[in-house]
This record gives sequence, C-alpha cells and structure tokens, in this order.
Amino acid sequence: MQLFKNRRAKVFFRDGYVCQAHRVGLPRCGYRAPPGTHKGLTTHHLVEGSERIDDQLTLCSPCHKVVNRKEVDDRRKEERREEARACQS
Ligand SMILES: [Zn+2]
Repeated sequence: MQLFKNRRAKVFFRDGYVCQAHRVGLPRCGYRAPPGTHKGLTTHHLVEGSERIDDQLTLCSPCHKVVNRKEVDDRRKEERREEARACQS
C-alpha cells in the first residue's frame, strides 16, 4: 500500500497539485490542493490497469466523476454502433 501512496503522490507532484481536467477534454478547472496536502485530488488512469505514472493524471473529485461518466457514455455509444453494424450485415 505504501508503494501505491508514493505513486499517487508522484502524479500529484508532477501535475503541481492542480486538477488536469483540460487534458481530458473538460473545461479548465484549476482546482489546486491546499499547500502541503493533496486534499480533494484523485488520480485518473488514462490507460486502464496501467500503474505507470505517465498513464495517470491528477483530477479533483468532481472532475474525476465527470470524466468517469463521460467514459461510460462513450463506451455505450461505441456498443450501440457495433450493434447497428451487426444488424446491417
Ligand atoms: Zn477539477
């Protein structure tokens, strides 16, 4: 668990403890954790299952929720497209 904590801390540090919402297609958020803490911040995985720091991003909790919802929507849209294609053939 200590390792996990360090990795998260590295992601936060690299991103300056600032929410990186603009890097995942959301409006610029600019939320910054209070100095010396990472209060309100979470790490978002750009590549599912990857634990590489390069594949992770700092987001605040509200933006993280929006991104997760958006990803679910995109996946559903993709599934519907696949179904449509299957019907045509
Ligand atoms: Zn944010």
